[in-house]
Amino acid sequence: MKQHADVAVVGAGILGLAHAWAAARRGRSVVLFERDARAQSASIRNFGMVWPIGQTAGRLHQLALRSRASWLELAASAQVWVDPCGSLHLAHAPDEQAVLEEFVARAPSLGFDCQFLSPAETQRRCPAVNLDQLRCALWSPTELCVDPRQAIGRIPRWLHERFGVQLLFGTVVRDINLPTLHTTSGQVWTVRQAIVCSGMDFQTLYPDIYANAGIRRCKLQMMRTIPQSNGWRLGTHLASGLTLCHYPTFQVCPTLTALRQRLASEFPEYLKLGIHVMASQNHLGEVVIGDSHEYDEAIEPFDKTDIDDLIITYLRRMVHLPEWTLAARWHGLYPKHPSLPLFVAEPQPGVMIFNAPGGSGMTMSFGYAEEWWERHFGPAPQPG
Ligand SMILES: Cc1cc2nc3c(=O)[nH]c(=O)nc-3n(C[C@H](O)[C@H](O)[C@H](O)COP(=O)(O)OP(=O)(O)OC[C@H]3O[C@@H](n4cnc5c(N)ncnc54)[C@H](O)[C@@H]3O)c2cc1C
Repeated sequence: MKQHADVAVVGAGILGLAHAWAAARRGRSVVLFERDARAQSASIRNFGMVWPIGQTAGRLHQLALRSRASWLELAASAQVWVDPCGSLHLAHAPDEQAVLEEFVARAPSLGFDCQFLSPAETQRRCPAVNLDQLRCALWSPTELCVDPRQAIGRIPRWLHERFGVQLLFGTVVRDINLPTLHTTSGQVWTVRQAIVCSGMDFQTLYPDIYANAGIRRCKLQMMRTIPQSNGWRLGTHLASGLTLCHYPTFQVCPTLTALRQRLASEFPEYLKLGIHVMASQNHLGEVVIGDSHEYDEAIEPFDKTDIDDLIITYLRRMVHLPEWTLAARWHGLYPKHPSLPLFVAEPQPGVMIFNAPGGSGMTMSFGYAEEWWERHFGPAPQPG
């Protein structure tokens, strides 16, 4: 039996969901294919940090803010939990303070809305912050917290109920030759357009394109505590000096060079394992903790307990959690390109491959998808 749709989206990770929403809100009939019975890849394994403060000033930062607005719009309609909790970067050393001071001075001209906080002001934002050696912090109000497990579970159902998107989970797309699309279970679909957002699966569709894309694999280790008791809240996302070196935002600060040099000699094992320590708290009260970054040949199937120990040791310098008992440890993989935040290819007219090898798909996907659909098909109608 042949089935028809205007648009086929392959992959129900956040990037595929963003494209399915952008297409459906423009009146297209959409079918969404997902290999697994529920998406299990990077989009449910991440922190759930929507993190505009991590994006380079200019177009990428503006797209991140656009994504942020989309998350708030979607959350209200799809009953997805979102916390506009903002973020703190904590400084424990003079060179970390120097980077924050320099960034705050430049922030207005770069389009960032942030503030320099004293330790007492920092404690008002995050009562659990460890004041020992804390010198100051950078407050940014733009970051959101979502719970990936909840959001990635609910958004497909909402797309189905609100826009009639057909959901074909547990279905692998085997090949696409427009207007025909085949699945491994023998289904044949006729579609006008196909959007492929297959994340880390470089083997099933368009392996030749991926073989030459210059994309690496990156493995991240994560943990989460059991729910903190009695409604205890962290108050905001937490990051620190290691994070200043991780995201491109702070590269505009010449003071970063001295910080990098000091961290390289003081924390060599952290830099070797790509560890920068962050924490956030979801709606269940669990504190989500991470992360490390290991690439290609360094990636092993088994997780390293020394990575988790290094992360926890550093986090204890940053914050006093009432409850440190861990409920889960896991790892996730994402694609990483040395310079491209978004990889785009058009293997045949009407078929688009999108991949987000910048490691910030939760932050950027709605912005990327809306930007592309708007450029080619005009703005989405306002929700009525
Ligand atoms: C541990 C970790 C922490 C992170 N933290 C953050 C964060 O806090 N903030 C942030 O912005 N980003 C974060 N990221 C990055 C973010 O999670 C990713 O950029 C994003 O999830 C990528 O989404 P995606 O849809 O491209 O890929 P994926 O989530 O990998 O989804 C791709 C989907 O396609 C499906 N698929 C593949 N091939 C086929 C096929 N042929 N047929 C059918 N289905 C197919 C797969 O089953 C999969 O579900 C983190 C990533 C990790 C791993």
